[in-house]
Amino acid sequence: MTMPLKVLLARFGDKVKENVSLAPYTSARIGGPADYLVTASTADELAEIVSMLWDKGLNYFMLGSGSNILISDKGIRGITVLNRARAVRFENGSQPKVWAESGVIFSNLANRCASKGLSGLEWAATVPGTIGGAVYGNAGAFGGDVSGNLIQAEILTEAGRAQWPVEKMEYGYRTSVLKHSQTKAVVLSAELSLKIATKEEVAVKIEQFSERRKSTQPPGASMGSMFKNPTDDYAGRLIEAAGLKGTRIGNAEISPAHGNFFVNHGQTKASDIRALIELAQKTVADKFGVKLELEIELIGEW
Ligand SMILES: Cc1cc2nc3c(=O)[nH]c(=O)nc-3n(C[C@H](O)[C@H](O)[C@H](O)COP(=O)(O)OP(=O)(O)OC[C@H]3O[C@@H](n4cnc5c(N)ncnc54)[C@H](O)[C@@H]3O)c2cc1C
Repeated sequence: MTMPLKVLLARFGDKVKENVSLAPYTSARIGGPADYLVTASTADELAEIVSMLWDKGLNYFMLGSGSNILISDKGIRGITVLNRARAVRFENGSQPKVWAESGVIFSNLANRCASKGLSGLEWAATVPGTIGGAVYGNAGAFGGDVSGNLIQAEILTEAGRAQWPVEKMEYGYRTSVLKHSQTKAVVLSAELSLKIATKEEVAVKIEQFSERRKSTQPPGASMGSMFKNPTDDYAGRLIEAAGLKGTRIGNAEISPAHGNFFVNHGQTKASDIRALIELAQKTVADKFGVKLELEIELIGEW
């Protein structure tokens, strides 16, 4: 064991677990072990852990709900930081807001807002993942996205903690400065704008979105959309037109219901999903000359 790791264990011993299977921490239920899994229970703790890792020059992977990643079968070497910082504070008034730590599950937060008759986050009620993952990737659905609600986010960089107003996030379609730049940064918390409504209005909207999702997206363990939609087209349409819906490798399948969803039918290996990814990319490129780019991130040792 390296010296820096010993220091980490000495400080956060009870929060560090060795050789932990990461599959249960992902929406697709796929992936090998983390050498070390460190759980942060508050934003302060998250900041302390990550600052310490930067200080000691240790690499790490920041894990939210694992709903936009494919972890390799070999798993993640070194340290994985699991975000379970889940405090929430509502601010009432004529322009209500909610502040949430980055480990809060976004859909839970949206439902809490609904139960208070606060509107604005209905789109998020059916999107898996944490606030941190959503702020990082500008998650969105049904015409809404993080960029439309975020007032500011508390970001940790090597320079320290700072509030970043939404403009500084350089949001684009499912991307942000955190995603496309090399800057080391972690989302600690976010402040989101809401609107006063009635519980019924909010509940009706969430119900409609949830029905739409059920009718368009397949059930089962997956990573959501596998590929980004190419300009003026849909990845799912191209995969379907290439005749790949229902194609199976091992227990991994390109959903017969939606070509951009790859489903785990049980004990699926990451390598089988990867093989399906490569098959889809090659077939679509050969047939239509379109390069499908991954929406999800490949994480770990491949
Ligand atoms: C069934 C299904 C449906 C989906 N539908 C949608 C949809 O409609 N719209 C949509 O936008 N997405 C959708 N997704 C994708 C996913 O919900 C989002 O990308 C989500 O925001 C990811 O959050 P997470 O916590 O799971 O992130 P993870 O998958 O854990 O991590 C994703 C990336 O974010 C980084 N990250 C996580 N937390 C932090 C943090 N605190 N600070 C800095 N970086 C961080 C990670 O390091 C990683 O690089 C869907 C996924 C599934 C499985």
